[in-house]
Amino acid sequence: MDDVSLLKVGLTEDEKKIFDKKKIEFNKRVGSFLKVSRADAKNAECYICGKECSSFCNSHSVPQFCLQNISFAGKFYHSGNLVDMPMLDKEKGIGEAGTFKIICRECDSSVFSDYENPEAYYQRPTDKMLAQIAMKNELKSISKRQFEIQLYRNMAKEFGNHEMMSHMEGIGSADLKEYIDEFKYAKKACQSKWGNNYYLSYFESIPYIVPIAFQNNIALVSDLEGGTINNIYNHLRDYVIKSVHICVLPLKNHSVIMIFCKNGENRYSKFFKQFKKISYEDKLKVINYIIFSYSEDYYFYKGIDQEILGNEKLKDVAKTTSISVADSPFADSLKAAKENYDLNKRDTIPNFLSEKYEVVEY
Ligand SMILES: [Zn+2]
Repeated sequence: MDDVSLLKVGLTEDEKKIFDKKKIEFNKRVGSFLKVSRADAKNAECYICGKECSSFCNSHSVPQFCLQNISFAGKFYHSGNLVDMPMLDKEKGIGEAGTFKIICRECDSSVFSDYENPEAYYQRPTDKMLAQIAMKNELKSISKRQFEIQLYRNMAKEFGNHEMMSHMEGIGSADLKEYIDEFKYAKKACQSKWGNNYYLSYFESIPYIVPIAFQNNIALVSDLEGGTINNIYNHLRDYVIKSVHICVLPLKNHSVIMIFCKNGENRYSKFFKQFKKISYEDKLKVINYIIFSYSEDYYFYKGIDQEILGNEKLKDVAKTTSISVADSPFADSLKAAKENYDLNKRDTIPNFLSEKYEVVEY
């Protein structure tokens, strides 16, 4: 696979040295650029109720009561600690983790109340809870994409290279449309009296507190046997990328882990069947590997051993991104992505969901 390489997030040692030198200047430039794009991407109305809104709520994707269970003096680590992004803060406080600002305070405190209740996790989640989780995930993705599209536009203005930027903007817009459709489905499901809008493929309540908190929608590239789930490089108009929702929620005395998707969504049926057949321990390993390889949005307990965080293999997996750099138009990006995201590599990184890494309060 010489002609295709997947970009790694983060910087090399040399880049870090150069970066450290120019840090202040660079931070200022990037900071103001991001700030302007964020302001440009700001909506005028709340995304849920549609009412005019000037001060948006700082909404959390992972519920605060989960983050509290893995925080240490109000702080915890986030993915940036693994991928060496010096421009990101090393530690996050509870108020600033994985937040987005596109809904009003009223909606934030009323719409998600079923799932944002720690008492609700002593039994299987209801369809309504799943709908609320899905809605939250879609909102976060919508907010992220809106910002990125604005960022590409501003970059094109500032640096030229319009072709590349409008290509990126096009991909972003297609993704955005899909997230909006999923959001509408979830919003309707929240109000539905029928409990059959989502299919809970996996639900496990484990008797200890895991050191990770995670809640997101993820588009899996391949299943456990190397079959394609999503061809993330297919940008044809009628090809839609389909995501699953994955949650790892640390609670007071136990943790809840689940995978679900829209009811009737059959792109994941093969994967779900394969997943059901593997052992309990293996399931946790697969979810652990998915989180670290696919996402940049996980939080972990600050009391975790520094040596484990320094694990080179783990760092490498955490740096995987799907931005493909193909030198020739015939390069097989999908094949390269499948190798990168291969779930059969799950044994190569520490499994943070195993009892070995449980959060012990002291
Ligand atoms: Zn609202």
